[in-house]
Amino acid sequence: MHDNHIHVSGARERNLKDIDVLIPKKEITVFTGVSGSGKSSLAFDTIAAESQRELNETYTSFIRHRMPHYGKPDVDTIENLSVAFIINQKRLGGNARSTVGTITDIYSLLRLLFSRIGKPFAGYSDVFSFNNPIGMCSCCQGLGKIEAVDIEQLLDKNKSLNEGAILFPTFEPGGWRLTRYIHSGFFDNDKKIKDYSAEELELLLYTDGIKVKTPSPEWHKTALFEGLIPRIERSFLKKEDGEKVKYSKEIERFVIKQDCPHCHGTRLNDKVLSCKVNGKNIAECSDMQINELLDFIQSVGAPVAATVVSELVNRLKHMVSIGLDYLSLSRETSTLSGGESQRIKMVCQLGSSLTDLTYIFDEPSIGLHPHDISKINDLMKLLRDKGNTVLIVEHDPDIIKIADHIIDMGPGAGTHGGEIVYQGSIQGLKASGTLTGRYLAYSPELKPDIRAPRGWLSIHNATMHNLKNLFVEIPKGVMTVVTGVAGSGKSTLINGVLPRFYPDTIFIDQKGIQASKRSNIATFTGIFDIIRKLFAKRNGVSASLFSFNSQGACPVCKGLGVTYTDLAFMDTFVTICEECHGNRYTKEVLTYQLRGKNIGEILKMTVSEALEFFQEREILTILQRLSDVGITYISLGQPLSTLSGGELQRIKLASELENGGQVYVMDEPSTGLHMADIKQLIGVMNRLVEQNSTLIVIEHNLDIICQADWVIDLGPYAGQNGGKILFSGVPEDLINCKDSLTGKHLKKYIK
Ligand code: ADP
Ligand code: ADP
Ligand code: ZN
Ligand code: ZN
Repeated sequence: MHDNHIHVSGARERNLKDIDVLIPKKEITVFTGVSGSGKSSLAFDTIAAESQRELNETYTSFIRHRMPHYGKPDVDTIENLSVAFIINQKRLGGNARSTVGTITDIYSLLRLLFSRIGKPFAGYSDVFSFNNPIGMCSCCQGLGKIEAVDIEQLLDKNKSLNEGAILFPTFEPGGWRLTRYIHSGFFDNDKKIKDYSAEELELLLYTDGIKVKTPSPEWHKTALFEGLIPRIERSFLKKEDGEKVKYSKEIERFVIKQDCPHCHGTRLNDKVLSCKVNGKNIAECSDMQINELLDFIQSVGAPVAATVVSELVNRLKHMVSIGLDYLSLSRETSTLSGGESQRIKMVCQLGSSLTDLTYIFDEPSIGLHPHDISKINDLMKLLRDKGNTVLIVEHDPDIIKIADHIIDMGPGAGTHGGEIVYQGSIQGLKASGTLTGRYLAYSPELKPDIRAPRGWLSIHNATMHNLKNLFVEIPKGVMTVVTGVAGSGKSTLINGVLPRFYPDTIFIDQKGIQASKRSNIATFTGIFDIIRKLFAKRNGVSASLFSFNSQGACPVCKGLGVTYTDLAFMDTFVTICEECHGNRYTKEVLTYQLRGKNIGEILKMTVSEALEFFQEREILTILQRLSDVGITYISLGQPLSTLSGGELQRIKLASELENGGQVYVMDEPSTGLHMADIKQLIGVMNRLVEQNSTLIVIEHNLDIICQADWVIDLGPYAGQNGGKILFSGVPEDLINCKDSLTGKHLKKYIK
């Protein structure tokens, strides 16, 4: 009867309240609701998890016995489920050999093209691979980069060898490696390096290895004298173990990565580079922006390679349509942002001809300007029209708009959520009176009371990446929002260039929070120590009993409540610990209580539940600050490694609220937030500004742009077609700026 629907019944994962739901197949369904309402619990932890499990059931028992045991999600049944693919913003990462070209397979097509029609004729397409010994540059092994020693950082030229001129362990006075230099007889050990002659400096730094008679009895009769640079390269750069690892922090200080002097960063050897198509070699093609490469390939009229050319054109057009035309095939995947990674994953899927799949997207709007969103919307419609079911977890009104069906979850977060509060069309949602409905129906306005700047931060001659020699002034003491399409240069300007001018800039980002599976909000904020002491006092036992690395912790999961299985070919697999059933501690420890709750139960409480439970001022102050930045729905014991970048960023914002008065930068703080949560976030940002701070926010979210005192808009487009300042001023004037796509969208938004 419901065979054109996925039918979920009795879903109870995490906070879901035993819900039943019908999801139309071959349509686009958007899951909405405040953060923590249960959208991911339904879409990922129930639907995607069950699909994964069923897929594994289809393997032979031989394979299955070698795979981890997939627990069944807490749900009675799911009918009509097809194979599900998750497309999220988890960064692609990857090593230095993984590039946009290799991961999308477009580079293989390019190799094929060169092997067919390149001149002089080169043979097989494998020759063009920088990951293959026959194609790679032998100097850098196909990495395009080599590590080199920055002498300015290694030497203190105002000192002599005896005074410790060599700034590296084992070469300092008393260090064993220095003796060979001191006893060589080549140098005046008390002469400052800055007074060395060119020959002396050459000898100290670059000597390749000459035999010296040894005046010191500790030496062998003859020994090899080697300059500092080859010495350091041999022991610290070329090897992959031992001292290289031990001193990695110190090495990082004076080792710089630079383009390989031999292949100039192209990764390929001379022979391969001499092979050309229409005057360009394969490295030059990989370095072009995708839109330029597309034009170039379209101009290649080679009947013998017509199929390869048309497939290349096809794939490159996908990249353009998804707004990634500013990337190049040679860009390393490890430097891509989460949003870019997500869109690359989409391109990989579009190449596939499979149908009747379920695609589940996790906030595809992240990193995207309203102008880019229309492109990604087209792609999601394309996936649907190919006969797939598209499920999207999203807050952005521009994406919610394309839904054929909406499932709104709530009403609140955590235990206050987990229900379906509305399902149906978008018009119905607006009239429904749910929190999401009310926000969608409400008409936004610009902030009336704009703050006046209290001075300016100025940046000049900014040329990094695509920036076009910019002069930028950022007002102090107010909130500035930096806008522009993805790839226009926002992060380059603010994260890359600004700190060169103002090194004291504080980045409220995910860095500095150790997001390991052993840390959680309770340990990070320090309330766990207070809670352990309360337990100890109440029960007359030692506080250390409640620590994760004590005898009191479950011996199997070591206090994590879950066990992890690492798999080479999939994401790490997590299962509830079979010993303690997720309670983290031994049975004995779980008998100790604080106001009727054991320590395992307390770690399961969300921040808002904990705010109701605790009475201790010290704990309440910290919890309240977390709650102020919208972290209400996360449980105290949830590992920081499971939190999104946006959530970690807000946790850091909460800890900054104690200080104020500095220059702060936030990169897309709206990530993961419902319109209602954003309102709260804006309140906190204003509080920070009122503490005499300068706040600079990189954002696409129009509600946040409406709240800006000042806007700096970059563009007009991405990559080389961006990198200029289109507008700098108050939001009201942005609306009338004809060149600005942001202005255009803002005008439409506030109408
Ligand atoms: P949404 O996707 O709507 O933001 P979630 O489904 O992620 O909401 O969260 C629903 C509830 O489940 C929240 O109370 C949240 O704190 C909790 N939760 C989510 N992930 C985890 C996890 N890994 N461990 C424990 N609790 C979790
Ligand atoms: P935005 O923040 O506006 O999305 P970015 O500042 O990230 O834009 O990017 C601006 C330009 O700089 C783009 O062409 C991008 O490809 C390039 N770029 C960004 N990071 C790097 C990097 N690590 N290496 C090379 N190019 C980069
Ligand atoms: Zn090289
Ligand atoms: Zn356990």
